[in-house]
Amino acid sequence: MLVTMSDKELSRINVIQSVVEKRMHRRDAAHQLALTERQTQRLMNPRQLRQNVFSDNDRLCVWVSDDISGTVNAYEIELFPVISVDTGEWTVKYDLGLMHKLQQIRQLALPNETGGTILGVTDFKNRTIVLVDVLPEPADSKSSPTSFVRGEEGQQESLERVQRLTGRVVDYVGDWHSHPQGYTAKASSEDEKLIEKLHLKMSVDGLPVVMLIVAKDDINIVVK
Ligand SMILES: [Zn+2]
Repeated sequence: MLVTMSDKELSRINVIQSVVEKRMHRRDAAHQLALTERQTQRLMNPRQLRQNVFSDNDRLCVWVSDDISGTVNAYEIELFPVISVDTGEWTVKYDLGLMHKLQQIRQLALPNETGGTILGVTDFKNRTIVLVDVLPEPADSKSSPTSFVRGEEGQQESLERVQRLTGRVVDYVGDWHSHPQGYTAKASSEDEKLIEKLHLKMSVDGLPVVMLIVAKDDINIVVK
């Protein structure tokens, strides 16, 4: 997730944080913010902010300040442990949240295979591909208990939306699909052909491509 804030928004949040952490009197904060003390108190939304300030765990919180109403709302994003897979030339990172999501999508589609587009960030400097999320299976996909061919319906629009929301940081990085009951996540000969095809397409732009396979008990990641 990418969040941008204006200097004004940031300084307002700093002031509020100072009050919450008792580094600044509410009266002085109100003066700086050109608000009454009562308005300043309302901005602090005490329950959310105190929790954030006094928690020891890692947290990701997005604070959104509304210039018109002057309110600040805090949104918390759940964090999960990160899984790091060394595939040779590239390290692929994703978190337990995404892993559970893929397992759940697989489970719901059984006995058929399912899959879709993987969204992520390709970092050439660190040779790392971070998997961020997946798009839902397009409606024109073809799935059976032994195969999955992703459709194209709505893909372009969804990708453009992701690019716009993230300032083009997050983009298509590859495809994933599930394997049915009784099979491991090992790539089949059809899968080998698929990764070649994806690689040809992505290598035009000098980009690597990820193929991720989800089975009941394992996940296989191939980068080409
Ligand atoms: Zn497969």
